[in-house]
Parts: sequence; C-alpha cells; structure tokens
Amino acid sequence: MRSKFKKKNCIYCGKPTTSKDHAPPKCFFPKPVPKNLITVPACFDCNESFSADENYTRTILASAKISDQPGSPAEKIWNQKVQRSLQKNSKVLKEISKSFRFVDIYHGPIYLGRRPAFPCDRGRIDRIIDKIIKGLFYFENKKPLSNEFAVKILWSPYEDNKIPHKIINVIITSNIKQIGEGVFKYRSIYVKEDLNWSIWVLNFYNSYLTFIGITGKERNNNIVKI
Ligand SMILES: [Zn+2]
Repeated sequence: MRSKFKKKNCIYCGKPTTSKDHAPPKCFFPKPVPKNLITVPACFDCNESFSADENYTRTILASAKISDQPGSPAEKIWNQKVQRSLQKNSKVLKEISKSFRFVDIYHGPIYLGRRPAFPCDRGRIDRIIDKIIKGLFYFENKKPLSNEFAVKILWSPYEDNKIPHKIINVIITSNIKQIGEGVFKYRSIYVKEDLNWSIWVLNFYNSYLTFIGITGKERNNNIVKI
C-alpha cells in the first residue's frame, strides 16, 4: 500500500483507492525517467482503462518529431518504446503506414516546415489530454477538478481561430513548467473567483502541435464561455 495516497479517492471516478497514476503518463518519458514525475491517486480500473490510449497517443506525438536531431527525447522514446509496441500491434502499424504522408504546416502566416502526418483518432488522444489536465489540476490544487466541470480541448495550430485573443494574451504571461527536458512542458492559469475555471497549454516533445485545455462548467455538452 502506498501511504502517500492512503484514504484518497480516484481523481477520475471518485472511488476510494490506494494506487496511483502519473501525469503525464510514465510511458511518455524515455529512460532515464525524470525524478519529478507527478503522481495522483487513481484506482486500478481507471489506470488500466487508459493504458492502450496512452500508447496510441505517445505514438502519434512522438512521430510528429521523428525527423528530429539524433538523441532528442522524441527519438529516444521512439527507439526505446514506440517501435517495439508497434511491432507487437501490427494493426496500428498498418493504419499508420497506409495513411502516412508529408504535409506543409503553418502557424498563422508562418511556415513551420514539412512534417509527417496521418489521420489520427482524436477521441483517443483527447481522452489522454483530458486525464493529464485533471492530474495536473490535482497536483497544483491538492484536490480534484469539481465533477460539475469538464475539460474542453483545442488543438493548436489547427484550431487557433477558436481561441479568443484575450485568452492567448493571458496565457503567454504565465510561467512555463517542465517535466523531463524536451519531453513535456505546460502552462496553467486560473480564474481567481473560482479556481475550477482554468486554462492549460500542453506541449510534448517540442512538437509543432500544442493542446489547449479549458476547464469550465458543462451545460448541454458545451463549456460555458469564460
Ligand atoms: Zn477510478
């Protein structure tokens, strides 16, 4: 039994638990794994249910940087873990190789270069980004996100036009926090009146793809505008 999470509830489903989960998932980090990984209380069932989607998300994120410099974290994770798991799971490998192509990436008017791309299952990736944000929220606030709240996830640069400028202006003033050099960095800001309202910016492997998460009250499956 891990005494750190004695008498805690799973931050994802609320059941009592003594086990833990990592935010971001431990499998995202190449060896040697950094010492400052964040752990949160999570039940065994939730933990297990994320496993396949974590591997899938890691494959997509690491592949976005596979043409990187030798020795980069993305290349390390690819060589240490992704390649092996793809060989074991030929279905994912087939899906990826069939749809693999190169595309030109722009951030607004700025050309970021030619990158490998393939259609991916956004639902699976968003599920992992959602749980990472809930994990980071717990870590920063020492309590889970209220269950009346949900996380809305936007993908940048693709959905930049959905993010109000005033929000971007606030986000860029917040500190960048990092776990594992070149693996994961994030920013977080909170609405002072109710800390359950917050905005998160997540980036993995210094990829051109960044995730914006907004926590807000759910109403008819839409998040109320901040
Ligand atoms: Zn649970």
